[in-house]
Amino acid sequence: MYSNHHRFKSHDCLICFKPIDHQFFLLSLIANPSICIDCFRKLNVLNEKSRFDGCDIHFLYEYNEFFRSLLFQYKGQYDIALAPVFLSYFLIELRHQYSNCIVACCPSSKEQNERRGFAPMEEIAKTLNLPLFTDLIKIGDYKQADQPFRKRKGIYDHIAVVGGQDLYQKEILLIDDVMTSGHTLKACLDQLRKLSPKKIDILILSCRKHRKTLSSENSF
Ligand SMILES: [Zn+2]
Repeated sequence: MYSNHHRFKSHDCLICFKPIDHQFFLLSLIANPSICIDCFRKLNVLNEKSRFDGCDIHFLYEYNEFFRSLLFQYKGQYDIALAPVFLSYFLIELRHQYSNCIVACCPSSKEQNERRGFAPMEEIAKTLNLPLFTDLIKIGDYKQADQPFRKRKGIYDHIAVVGGQDLYQKEILLIDDVMTSGHTLKACLDQLRKLSPKKIDILILSCRKHRKTLSSENSF
């Protein structure tokens, strides 16, 4: 699984393996990026904030072809070495902004994670160095993308929390990789709200650039 040993040299880009030119990229002095400037440019940064279902929501990248293939290599081809790539350039900002939060991830199914050998969103969340809540779970192999659009609301029956009393009156950061319909996110919010947290913020790695509806709530 880890055939690319040179990946673990700290100054090579985790995506293309070229050395990272620190002088070229001033940000690297504080953020210690795990990807090079060329790969970073292919990730089209949005860094947009909006509102969703009563929560602040923060989008990092556009869901373009580069992001899609990167995410597929990570989740679909089990390339766990890519985990640090996704938050790399935002780590300082994110750790500061969400420093009081416990991080919860929109879950993938246990069966998928067993095939992969890791829980993809949790591995990304770990790079924040914040407390991690891992009791938000997905039941069965329900895959949102495989469902006809009218049936996608079925996700609500497949997300649950087990335990979680320690989230009472705490601040939560809910993170997910891609936002499409928003149903998965809403299902996770509904479950987390049962635990009476003080507040929930949302961080989404990517979404399509042309969203119509972010200015109004409940519109996904
Ligand atoms: Zn690169």
